[in-house]
Formats: sequence, C-alpha cells, structure tokens
Amino acid sequence: MEISRRGILQISALGVVIAGLLPRMAFAARNSVRSMRTGVQPNGKTRLVIETTARPSYSLIYGENTLTVRLSNAAADNAIEKKWASGTLVKSVSQVQDGDALNVVATLNRSIAEIPKNQIMVLEPNGDNEYRLVLDFVAGTKTAVASTKTESDTSDTDTPKKQIAKKHIIVIDAGHGGKDPGCIGKGGTKEKTVVLSIAKKLQTQLQSAGFIAYLTRTGDTYLKLNERASIGEQRRADLFLSIHANANPSRSMKGFSVYTLSEKASDEEAQKLADAENAADKIDVSGFEQFSKDIRIALSSLQQHAVAEMSQEYANGCARAFNRASIEQQPGPAVRHAPLAVLRSTVPGALIECGHLSNKSEEKLLKSSAHQDKIVSAIVRSIKNYDFEV
Ligand SMILES: [Zn+2]
Repeated sequence: MEISRRGILQISALGVVIAGLLPRMAFAARNSVRSMRTGVQPNGKTRLVIETTARPSYSLIYGENTLTVRLSNAAADNAIEKKWASGTLVKSVSQVQDGDALNVVATLNRSIAEIPKNQIMVLEPNGDNEYRLVLDFVAGTKTAVASTKTESDTSDTDTPKKQIAKKHIIVIDAGHGGKDPGCIGKGGTKEKTVVLSIAKKLQTQLQSAGFIAYLTRTGDTYLKLNERASIGEQRRADLFLSIHANANPSRSMKGFSVYTLSEKASDEEAQKLADAENAADKIDVSGFEQFSKDIRIALSSLQQHAVAEMSQEYANGCARAFNRASIEQQPGPAVRHAPLAVLRSTVPGALIECGHLSNKSEEKLLKSSAHQDKIVSAIVRSIKNYDFEV
C-alpha cells in the first residue's frame, strides 16, 4: 500500500477527537467496525459513516486517491454490515489490519487534490447507533466555488455585503513567563522570551491586516493556564493562539507542530508535550487536580464539539501555511491533539510549537528576527485563510 502525506498540503481536513472517558483504565476495550455506509447529501457531498463499537481514536493518512482512517487498538471484522449508495465519491472501502491498528482505506474515484474540502467528526452513540466517524467529501475546485458565489452575490441585492465583515478578534498567548521560563536552549535561549517576541510581532501584523489582536501578557509575567484561556473568553475572541517553542531529549529533533485540544493525546509525543506544557500550572498548584475533570466537562457540551471542529480546521490551515513558508515540520503528523489546559475554553484555538529550542540550529533560527518574521507571516496567512463564519 502506497501512502503519501502530500495530500495534507492540498486539502483541508476537519477532524475532532473527543477521546475516552476513563483515562485511568489499565486497558481499553478493543475497537472494531460495526458497519459502514455511504450516502449523498442534498448539497452533493458524499458522506461516509464508519460505525465503531467503542469510541474511536484515529488519525488520517492521505494518499493519491485514498483516505485512510487509522483506528488505534482496533481489529478488522469482515462480516460487518455495509450499505453503499450510488453516485458517491467513494469507490470502495477496505479494512487492513496493521498490528494493533486497523486501517480503513477509502478509495475515492478521483484524486484527493480534486476534493478541496473534506471533514470528519465523531458522533456519540444514539438510538441504535454506536459511535460514528462521519467523513464528508465535497468535490470541485476552490476557484469554481468562489466564482459561483461572486456571481450570485452581485445579482442578489438582498445578499448582505460580506466585505463589510466584522473585525475578528484574535487573542495571542505568549507561553510561559515570569518564574516559568518554559524550555531553555543549549545556548541559553528561553522559550518565554522568544515566544513573547513572536507574539508581539504577530499582534502588530494582525492589527495592520485589519484584525483586533490582544496579548495575554505583554511583559515577563507569569499567568496560570486557565487565566490565559479565560482572557480569550473575556475578549470574546474568535481565535485563541498559544505560541510556544519545543524541547526534545533528542537534540536532533527539529520542526514545528500544531496542537488542538483533546482529552486524550493523539500520540506519545503529544502526551509528553501536554505534560510539559501543563506543568506550567504545577508551579502554582491550585486548581490543577480539577484540570482533567474540567476538560471532560468542557468537551461534553455540544458547543465544545463545534469549537473542536473549528480549532481543527484552523490547525490544519496553520500547518499548511507553515509548510508553504518552508518552515521545517517535526516528523510525524503536523497537527496533533493533546489535553492542553491553555486551550480549554469556548474559543476555537490552537497551540503552535514554532520549533525546537533543544536543537542547536533551530535555537539560532528561533532567536533571529528574520525567522520570527517568517513564522509571523505564516500565522497571519493562516488567519486570513481561516473561515471565521463556519
Ligand atoms: Zn511551551
């Protein structure tokens, strides 16, 4: 099976992982697919539904004309119920066991590049249904969609003028600060200093691009993670971005990654990151025990589900913008999920790890004004491309 990640650069995948309720369980029940079906939605989009017996923990892999949903801790079951509708974008779906993981491979009848928009969500069990992973695919090109819109906008005088849009509010959170330096490079560069510099540059650039941008801290001050998150809510932000730099025990590890909130980490790397970033609050212990319970409560509401989808869409766009700017990506998925306390709010957002201070060459880059500008431009671009009205 040939799998390429190239597709990730070309399309926007909207994903939500709302993970297990019993994080302390010694072992989780093995998942399996119960049924699969496709259908055509009224607006012509293809919907693929994968019903699973347990809450799915998944990642997506894009091929030339395949989309693979990799379910962790899952076993293939070929006796499942299948219902295929005609006229969909999905040609066939197969289950391929790969160690502990089950790859559900959807072969599409055109290349991923011709499917500019797809999204994925997880639905909770209801009625006769178990957990469902719902994948929507819309074919066409972005250009075609945009030109149709313009035509109808000019012919319809009742259409509100979208160009007089409200000013969107972005809250930029420079990670760490004060008694919490964050990670420290071998050359002595402190994360709290680098990220504050990036955050300030970002605020200036966003303001000149017509956004309203606030900082959670403007100086070397310590803020608790929930205080940062609530600044996003108080400011009624449309987007909350927490800016960080990473460290890894392996000094050769390099690259950026973008994180969204989930209760369970998407991989080991993401869990370590969450442990490190959340440790900022252990400096001021009050309220920390409450934290994992809070995330659970937050994620159980419908509103949070929408926030998670929007965060995922932003994170995908952000990773694409970094890729386009040729900023080195950390090996593995560009977008990961982790239980990050700073993202626990009603505001869609992401935590951006701009690079590794533990890597000598990246420490040098992160300190340089030119590279900081490059990061800032990529973030501004991702915000301009983000669809605030979803
Ligand atoms: Zn950090």
